[in-house]
Amino acid sequence: MQSVPMPINEAARLRRLADLCLLEGTRDPVFEDIIELLQAYFDAPIALISILEEQRQWFKASRGLCIRETPRDMSFCTYAILSDALFVVPDALEDERFRDNPLVTGPPYIRFYAGMPLVTEDGLGLGSLCIIDNQPRPPLNEHQASALKRFAALVMQRILSLRDLNYRDQQTGMLNRARLEQDILTRRGEQAHSLVAIDVVSPQMLNDIVKALGYQFSQDLMLTIHAELTALLPAKTNIYRISQTRFGFFLDGGRGPASEALFAAILERFKQPLFCGGIPIQTQVGIGAIELSHSQASLPDWLRMVVSASDDARTKGKGSGWYEPGLGRAQQRAFMLLSALAEALQSGDQLRLAYQPRFDAHSGALLSAEALLRWEHPFLGALSPGEFIPLAERTSMIRPLSLWVIRQAVNQATGWYRAGMPLKVSVNVSAEDLDGAQFTDNLLTLLADTGLPPQLLELEFTESAVCQSPELVREQLERLRRVGIDVAIDDFGTGYSNWTYLRQLPATAVKLDRSLICNISSDERDRRLVETLIGLGLRLGYRIVAEGIECADTLEVLRRAGCHEVQGFFLARPMELHALESWRAARETA
Ligand code: C2E
Ligand code: MG
Ligand code: MG
Repeated sequence: MQSVPMPINEAARLRRLADLCLLEGTRDPVFEDIIELLQAYFDAPIALISILEEQRQWFKASRGLCIRETPRDMSFCTYAILSDALFVVPDALEDERFRDNPLVTGPPYIRFYAGMPLVTEDGLGLGSLCIIDNQPRPPLNEHQASALKRFAALVMQRILSLRDLNYRDQQTGMLNRARLEQDILTRRGEQAHSLVAIDVVSPQMLNDIVKALGYQFSQDLMLTIHAELTALLPAKTNIYRISQTRFGFFLDGGRGPASEALFAAILERFKQPLFCGGIPIQTQVGIGAIELSHSQASLPDWLRMVVSASDDARTKGKGSGWYEPGLGRAQQRAFMLLSALAEALQSGDQLRLAYQPRFDAHSGALLSAEALLRWEHPFLGALSPGEFIPLAERTSMIRPLSLWVIRQAVNQATGWYRAGMPLKVSVNVSAEDLDGAQFTDNLLTLLADTGLPPQLLELEFTESAVCQSPELVREQLERLRRVGIDVAIDDFGTGYSNWTYLRQLPATAVKLDRSLICNISSDERDRRLVETLIGLGLRLGYRIVAEGIECADTLEVLRRAGCHEVQGFFLARPMELHALESWRAARETA
């Protein structure tokens, strides 16, 4: 047998094959139908769709043949793809290229072969559609040749539409995540390049957009963003839609001035609102990147890492960032804690409430107690709410958790009330609990069931950056206020709190954050700031509460400034239930 001829565009041809990703081993009913029709039309014992790879041919569909592949040097198809015209061998035994071919001298004893190459628009031969007989036949007549050609055109159409089906987002036609994964694999081993992910909006914001303006609008917005990115990126850069709110692309080279300049340009562009259907939309872009050539990680890790980098960049508002290994560890811990928390909620014996008393700043009378969640994990030990509450708030886990807390707290307060020693309980709730009616509904039912007077309950509400729907939250807070439940704004003076925002909420009390309080006895400026805040709060008619009081001097400053209520380690630490009860008993008798 002679050595096989190679097409001149072999390298490009192989790349295209990888690109099209014709999955081997999956049967496609359309290909099966075409082959069956072909076999019947030509009354041929064998009909095949052969795909020619570097070393072998394999059959995407076949009839009359039990093998699924052969080495390339045995394949007739190798010759068929050398041109874009029909390739016919009337009698293989008469053809010196094939007479010694094992497929001719042995089973299936090929004598006649007619193959139409499967050629892409730009002239790359992928394989062939062919009929085979174990008897010689005359060359195809004009009708037969044209039929085979049309069947081959159908096969090509199907190949392309399958690719689109698998590799394009059906709503927008953009390249999808599966395609990105495929391309990461194909580009493996190429010189230094990076993978970039862009978070364009938060999932919550997209959700709001869908609710307000409809699904189609959200898709149009993604197309608008896609177009903006296309204009900003180097020509011919593929842009992939990784998820509903995320795009990805490859960048030649790694971290350096060029990539930073590109990221800066992207961020600059998206600082301005985008106009979609005449409506201005303010995106919140975060760019994450990872150098692929330096990374030993596997494919799913790359995507996970770059996506977490972009998510981090967006949520922290830092614009762009390269993947840092520490991020992965933090997220691993977050993941571990969240699944452990789900278990803890089921287990019933890992979670408890501690109570920290709150006092009248002037008389020292005990006014209420704040319920603080405690989690003792069998292996991880005591976990701080400061760590796991923010995690729960970013998932839907906060809802069942808050429900658990409010049940415990209301039951406890009811117990004290019935025992003739009422104590008001403050419960921390998150903005996430209040952006729908469910939590409030549950709470009102709980009050009705237990008969606890609503005046014995207060909610401490923390404003947060993630509060996406302030109107919904206000609506729920108003419902709670109407039945007489007090509402305190927790951690006031930090992060996102401000008076304007506060005026929109039906709050009864403002709880000054510990970070404001801790230095007021030594730091003149801190003291003035707190005095001003208290003065403003008083004029607006709120009860003023200070938390985090750790010494007598601090207490004195707050008293003089007119603060109503105080809470802190200096006065009483958070206590387990039994400790609180004996503390109260001791206080009564003192
Ligand atoms: P927070 O609501 O501001 O609660 C006050 C935190 O400050 C508590 O920490 C308390 O132990 C601590 N603390 C009280 N007095 C002092 C003091 O004098 N000095 C110092 N250094 N710290 C003091 P904890 O229990 O670790 O809770 C942290 C945060 O976790 C809470 O801040 C609250 O935002 C959140 N949290 C706790 N339990 C719950 C809950 O059941 N639901 C929700 N949504 N959040 C909770
Ligand atoms: Mg609190
Ligand atoms: Mg606080």
